[in-house]
Amino acid sequence: MQMSHPVYDVVVVGGGINGVGIAVDAAGRGLSVFLCEKDDLASHTSSASSKLIHGGLRYLEHKEFRLVHEALVEREVLLAKAPHIIRPLRFIMPHQPYLRPAWLIRTGLFVYDHLGKREKLAGSKQITFDAATSPLKEELTQGFEYSDCAVDDARLVVLNAMQAHELGAHIVTQTRCSSAYRENGLWLVHLENAQGTYQIQAKALVNAAGPWVAQFIQQNLKQKSPYGLRLVQGSHIIVPRIYEGDQAFILQNDDRRIVFAIPYLEQYTLIGTTDHEYQGDLDRVKITPAEIDYLLDVYNDHFKHQLGVEDILWTYSGVRSLCDDESDNPSAITRDYTLAMSHEQKDDAPLLSVFGGKLTTYRKLAESAVAHLQPFFSNMNKPWTEKALLPGAENLVSVERLIQEIMQSIADVPSQLASRWAHAYGSRVWKFISGITAMDELGEDFGHGLFAKEVDYLVDQEWARTSQDILWRRTKLGYQFSDDQIQLLDQYLSKLLAKRSQDSAA
Ligand SMILES: Cc1cc2nc3c(=O)[nH]c(=O)nc-3n(C[C@H](O)[C@H](O)[C@H](O)COP(=O)(O)OP(=O)(O)OC[C@H]3O[C@@H](n4cnc5c(N)ncnc54)[C@H](O)[C@@H]3O)c2cc1C
Repeated sequence: MQMSHPVYDVVVVGGGINGVGIAVDAAGRGLSVFLCEKDDLASHTSSASSKLIHGGLRYLEHKEFRLVHEALVEREVLLAKAPHIIRPLRFIMPHQPYLRPAWLIRTGLFVYDHLGKREKLAGSKQITFDAATSPLKEELTQGFEYSDCAVDDARLVVLNAMQAHELGAHIVTQTRCSSAYRENGLWLVHLENAQGTYQIQAKALVNAAGPWVAQFIQQNLKQKSPYGLRLVQGSHIIVPRIYEGDQAFILQNDDRRIVFAIPYLEQYTLIGTTDHEYQGDLDRVKITPAEIDYLLDVYNDHFKHQLGVEDILWTYSGVRSLCDDESDNPSAITRDYTLAMSHEQKDDAPLLSVFGGKLTTYRKLAESAVAHLQPFFSNMNKPWTEKALLPGAENLVSVERLIQEIMQSIADVPSQLASRWAHAYGSRVWKFISGITAMDELGEDFGHGLFAKEVDYLVDQEWARTSQDILWRRTKLGYQFSDDQIQLLDQYLSKLLAKRSQDSAA
């Protein structure tokens, strides 16, 4: 006898930015949504980015006007939706006349300033460097300055997952979609996790598996991918902070690529990225020695303070899943997204697959993805996400004001900790510090400002399951934790998770 399985309107495979963005949009339009992620939320490309919400100045050279326009508009939309995790950032571009003439850059920046709506972000200008104070080499005397934004990429994913959940979406992590096939006008979706396997049904299936998008269609759905996929690795190095000031640098290299140097987490500078075709294991992407040399060379060509391999504290790498436009050069492949709908026969349950995309354009991608599903759900509500605040942005006058409020509530809280909380959680911080007046009420101290109250909140509200989830994606405390401190946190988590599962079984 056929067992009956819960039926959802939409099942989304993949808990990166595109999957959670689609889940939020669909749930807010009144659809019942289920999202599965095989690892942790944002554990792949969506936490390995350059962490910019940007129009993509360099894409103008590749005539990607649609993408740049959409991304420029989204900068201010996203800044308003999540001002605690997104901040404006000024970029300095040293002028290299032999690479691009000044008139070309001025024209590009004029287009950049005017192609999308810009209210909060300052416009561009030409600048002269003071040789005595500039961190750049003395021969770099002229340059340009313009605005984009920086984002905590992993938290952008988690906040979207929280919003989807609050709108009724069912979100499961550490759960892989092993296969799905059409049966009686629905998708029968097979899921597996550490506890076993189970099935659900869906009226529509969304494949937001990022770098696995084509593999998922071919291996898990046993179908033919509608587009070719180019997997392009990008890596970053993290070094101790190399210059004072809040500005980032955009460095032009002789190969016509650009590399960013970005202030990161107070103490560090983030340098990246690279572009090279990837064929390895998607679960284990690692920087190559050639990438390290490339990033150090581009940096050393521009800055007075020289860096060597020994200065690198950490590295990370991710894979872009780009729709194949047959470019010879990986850095020239389109960064725009393509949505592929398939329903071979009129009554088939639809499959929507996401190819490509940027963090910056995730909201528009999601809006467009759900619009593609509209013909299958006649009662669907209108698009709604443009003005909706992400969790933590509600009742947030400003992050600075929130920091003051936290410091007034907990008399002995270090300002650095109040600032970290305010930037990570916005007004949701009160979910775990409400009523607390002294630091010793925050529970077990794991070091570096991480206490049990925050850990409990991350487990209960943000799907954190392991120390890695907490230290690298919900926070960035992983840069400071020792192995012993990680072990202590792991022990606490295993007890907490055992208790939570007993509570839910009772
Ligand atoms: C080096 C680099 C720098 C970048 N910098 C920027 C930037 O500064 N700004 C910007 O806007 N964009 C940037 N991007 C692009 C941006 O990061 C990506 O477009 C975006 O993160 C892609 O998100 P995604 O959801 O498609 O993929 P992912 O984040 O990889 O999510 C896909 C998820 O699907 C899951 N999955 C796969 N198969 C299954 C299955 N069978 N069952 C369940 N789950 C499954 C995976 O575990 C994964 O978590 C950058 C990309 C790279 C690589």
